[in-house]
Amino acid sequence: MRNNITLGRLAGVTIELNWSVLVIAFLITFSASGSLLPAAVPGLSGAAYLAGGLIAAAALLGSILLHELGHALVARRHGVEVERISLWAFGGVAQLEGEAATPRGEAEIAGVGPGISLLLGAGLYGIATVMTGLPAAIVGWAGFINVVLAVFNLIPGAPLDGGRLLHAWLWKRHGDKGRATQTAGKVGRYFGSALIALGLAQFVFGGLGGLWTVFIGWFLRNAATAEVQFASLNEDLGGVTARDIMTAAEPVEGDWLSVAAFIDRHAVQQIRPFYLVGETDGSVSGVVTVKALAAVPDDDRWTTSVRTVARPVDEYPAVRANEPASELLRKIGTAPFVVVWEGSTPIGTITQAQFVTAAETARILASLRNGQPEAA
Ligand SMILES: [Zn+2]
Repeated sequence: MRNNITLGRLAGVTIELNWSVLVIAFLITFSASGSLLPAAVPGLSGAAYLAGGLIAAAALLGSILLHELGHALVARRHGVEVERISLWAFGGVAQLEGEAATPRGEAEIAGVGPGISLLLGAGLYGIATVMTGLPAAIVGWAGFINVVLAVFNLIPGAPLDGGRLLHAWLWKRHGDKGRATQTAGKVGRYFGSALIALGLAQFVFGGLGGLWTVFIGWFLRNAATAEVQFASLNEDLGGVTARDIMTAAEPVEGDWLSVAAFIDRHAVQQIRPFYLVGETDGSVSGVVTVKALAAVPDDDRWTTSVRTVARPVDEYPAVRANEPASELLRKIGTAPFVVVWEGSTPIGTITQAQFVTAAETARILASLRNGQPEAA
């Protein structure tokens, strides 16, 4: 379930690496050492090009990290917490825990990323001009890639930085955040479709790289759609928090019990697809699913403890109890449920089905509030 490797903490933000980054790092190293660098500076050894390719890949990751760190630090100055930055195939994501309260705040948070990339790009270009040979080629390439990063992120479609800038501008102009979200999302979808068409054309005329453009366009379209859905869900759910729709974990069942005793004592009385289990003091140690209980053969049920078939609780997506319920849409993904935490204690769970029901109900209630007839 874990696709991310934690690299460490920087300025109080956890830096994570998705495995897909390794694929990109490999591709960069491969293309830089195999063709880009030998073409720019001919006549060096294979080892020199390989080292150059590795440095280029590291420079790309470092550049993305600085871009995201910019978002994170400015967000924090505007009172929006950032727990982690994840680096993955399409760049980085600074995971903001909430949104800016004003258009100005949103514009500053979004604008600083491309700003840093542009400055880095210009600076590296400048440095490259006073260097020679392989170092000049690598530094020049790093400058170029930062400009690409800035330009790509400035595409004015949500959820890219350009989309956030557009959203902030529309929000300020019309004073209507919801309408700004709809418009920025629509523009994001148009740009996604345009990239798909461009990539297909590229592909038809013989460029395999066109497939990559198609993929990015498809990703952008989906993300823009999700952004709009998220915003309307957010509006429907209003002030509802995760705590309001969760199933409380109490009582936490003993993980030392045998599977047979556990089924007798608890599972028969409380029908749930899974249970939080824990120590005598009530602290949660893991999650056991009914399927995991059922997978223990009949003969072993009295000798197998629940602890051995439980999974660690932090393997499941987490939300904080006071987070808006709409955050679940971002966090639940394909997981069967999320765990609701109060500080460092898991206090409940929310299943996919529970969330869908809450969202559905909130939508109907919102339409009743607004006096629009609900289409059955
Ligand atoms: Zn950015």
